[in-house]
Order: sequence, then C-alpha cells, then structure tokens
Amino acid sequence: MIEIKNLHKYFGELEVLRGIDLTVDESEVVCLIGSSGSGKSTLLRCINFLEEKNEGEIYIDGQLVLEKDINEIRQKVGMVFQRFNLFPHMTVIQNVMEGPLTVKKMNKNKAREQAIELLEKVNLLDKADEYPAMLSGGQQQRVAIARSLAMEPKVILFDEPTSALDPELVGEVLGVMNDLAKEGRTMIIVTHEMGFAKEVADRVIFIHEGQIAEEGTPEDIFDRPENERLQNFLGQIL
Ligand code: ADP
Ligand code: MG
Repeated sequence: MIEIKNLHKYFGELEVLRGIDLTVDESEVVCLIGSSGSGKSTLLRCINFLEEKNEGEIYIDGQLVLEKDINEIRQKVGMVFQRFNLFPHMTVIQNVMEGPLTVKKMNKNKAREQAIELLEKVNLLDKADEYPAMLSGGQQQRVAIARSLAMEPKVILFDEPTSALDPELVGEVLGVMNDLAKEGRTMIIVTHEMGFAKEVADRVIFIHEGQIAEEGTPEDIFDRPENERLQNFLGQIL
C-alpha cells in the first residue's frame, strides 16, 4: 500500500531523515516509536506532503507520488494529529461532512448519512450537533478520526493521537483505533503508548536519528530488543 525508498529530508543543514526505506502492506498496522526529535513526525508529514522531501520516492497504492498529485494523495492518505484541528465554527457532524462535500463533491444527503454512520462508529452520534469546544479532548479526537474516515482513505497516519489527552481519555481513543485495526485498515501510528503498540501493531519500527534502527514484531522489539539505543529508549519509557 505504501512503499518508501531512500527518503531524505533536510531542514537547512540538519538532515532529519537519513535514508528511510519502508513498505507497508494493505491492512498492516505499523507503529513508529523513538525519542523526541528522531524524525517520526517528519516521516509522516513527508508521506502526506505536508513537508516536501529532498530525495527518495514514495509510492501509494502502486502510484509514484508527485507534487502535482497532492490533492489526490491527501484523499488517499488520512492524517490524525496530536491536536485535533477540528473546525471550531462547525458542529461535529458538519466537521465530518466537510471533506466529502467540498473535496469529493458528495451530495449533502449522502454525506450526512455517511457522517451519521461514522459518528456511530466512534460512539459520538449523541454529540452530532454540538460544537467542538463543548467536547472533551478524547471526544474531539474521535471526531477527528471520523472526519478522516469520511474521506475513505487507503491509509491513515496517526501522529501521537493521544499525547495531548488527559490520561483518563486515552483509552477511548485507543479503543476506536483498535477497532479500525481489527477492520483491516492500513495504519501508521506514531505513539508512546507501548502497551497499545504491543497489542495492535503487526510491526514496530524504532526510528533513531532519522533512520530505521530496528524493526520487527512487537515481541521482537519489546521482549528482545537488539539495538542498544532501543534498549535505552525502552528503559526510559517503560
Ligand atoms: P519527532 O516527531 O520524532 O519528535 P520531528 O520529525 O518532529 O521528530 O523532528 C525531527 C527534527 O527535525 C527535530 O530536530 C526538529 O527540531 C526538526 N524539525 C522538525 N520540523 C522542523 C521545521 N519545520 N523546521 C526546522 N526543523 C524542524
Ligand atoms: Mg513528533
């Protein structure tokens, strides 16, 4: 579903991604872990063209991603951020309908029907007519997930979706993501929730200084880490 070859990204002199090769299969759930500043967000942002890469190739669904196809790519690749970025002046259901209406030119009844289904899926149908400010962080993040799903993406990228949440709200968001994983969605998730990664990931990738330092099954990574940097990282976080 995604194939990344030799991806390099610089910010000025600083080489933030130093030759990333990564293939993600359909229905695969990949968790990215690593220290702050190691390049995890930049990697996701390059996949979605929120950052322009300096070198390398990205294929999505077999198609080489080019700058000119940016709108098409953004439809195929959904993204959920640490901060939910909902439209504050729109109700919950309007937030979910917005992409399909404006980008996909879906008719209003169909968009509404789909939004209702998605809000049901994330357990928020009762909040459909509220404004985001009235919702808890966990509820807002679930709306953000529904909004992303409304575009029917092939892949969803999550960048620390629970890091901005109060601890008691983390579970409800991870629960929704777990459901998506079970549905066979293709997902790449940057997370510090190691228990979650252990449970849902098909593969865990440890990024260190802009390179893939180790990858494997959750058991490989958490129970039998080989790379010393990974051992240190896990020692700090667990
Ligand atoms: P992570 O998500 O793993 O914490 P990031 O991808 O956010 O890491 O950042 C990797 C490195 O790139 C850091 O050193 C960060 O300061 C730098 N960086 C990220 N975004 C920018 C930017 N827009 N301009 C300059 N430097 C940046
Ligand atoms: Mg980050």
